[in-house]
Amino acid sequence: MKTITTPEEIQRIANGIRREGKTIGLVPTMGWFHDGHLALMRKAREMADCVITTLFISPIQFGENEDLDQYPHDLERDQALAKEVGVDYLYAPEKSRMYPEGFASNVHVSGLSKGLCGASRPGHFDGVATVLVKLFNQTLPHFAIFGEKDFQQLAVINKMVDDLNFPIAIIGHPIVREKSGLAMSSRNTYLQESEMEAALSLSRAISASQKLAAKTKDVREILSLIKEKIISYKECRIDYVEIVDSVSLEPCLEVNSSARLLLAVFINNRIRLIDNAQLLTN
Ligand code: AMP
Repeated sequence: MKTITTPEEIQRIANGIRREGKTIGLVPTMGWFHDGHLALMRKAREMADCVITTLFISPIQFGENEDLDQYPHDLERDQALAKEVGVDYLYAPEKSRMYPEGFASNVHVSGLSKGLCGASRPGHFDGVATVLVKLFNQTLPHFAIFGEKDFQQLAVINKMVDDLNFPIAIIGHPIVREKSGLAMSSRNTYLQESEMEAALSLSRAISASQKLAAKTKDVREILSLIKEKIISYKECRIDYVEIVDSVSLEPCLEVNSSARLLLAVFINNRIRLIDNAQLLTN
C-alpha cells in the first residue's frame, strides 16, 4: 500500500489505472479507522481492481464550535489498518493542497441538506459535497462506498451525483455496531466509561421503536417513546429525533416500509452522536 499526499500524484495514478482498463473503488474517510471504515474498505476490495481510501479531515465541514481541533488522528495507525484490509492507495492530502489561498468554490445540494443534521450544523453538507467533488475529481473512481451511519450524508451524495451527472456509482453500506449495539464512530473515543450507558440510549431507543412499529403505525406515539427513553439519561440532550421517508427525508405521517428513524443526541453537551435505522425490519 502506498500513501499519497498530493492531488496531482493521486490523479496521475488514477488516470494510469483507468488507462489499463481497471476499476477504481473509493472509500472517503476522516481517518481514525474502526471496523465500520474497514468494512467499507473490504467491500471495495471485493468489488474493484484498485481501492483508494481517502483520509482527510476537511475543515470546511466543521462548524466554529465543533471538534475539528480535537478530532482523533494517527496516520501510522491508519496506514497499518488500511494495509491489512488490502487498500492499494491511502490518499491523505495536506489541507493547504486541498484548499489553497483563494479557494472560492462551494457545492450546495438544496432541500436534502436543510433539516436534521443540516439544521444543527449549518453549512456542514456544503462542506461535505464540496470536498467530495474534489476527491472524486482527484481519484476518478468508478464507484464510491459510504456508510448508512451518516444516512443524510448518503442521501445528499446520491442527489448530488445524480443531479451533476457524475459517472460514479454510490454504494451504501449498513451500519457496523459494537456488540453493545453502539454504532461505531471515531467520535466514540471521546466517550468516558461513565457515559457509555447514555451513549447506548440511541441504539436501545432504535430497538424499542422497531418493536413498537410492528404494533402501531402512529409516528407520534413512537417518537414520544423514544424521547422519553433518551431523556431518562441525565447526560443526554436530544438534538433531533425524527421519522422520515428514506428517500425524500421528509417527515413521515405514518410508519411505512420506507420510514426511517434518525436521531442525534448530545452526551454531556460534549459529544454529539448520531444513529438511524429502518423502522419496519421485515
Ligand atoms: P468518517 O470518517 O466518520 O467521515 O466516515 C467515513 C465513512 O465511513 C462514511 O461513509 C461513514 O458513513 C462510514 N462509517 C462511519 N461509521 C460507520 C459505521 N459504524 N458503520 C458503517 N459505516 C460507517
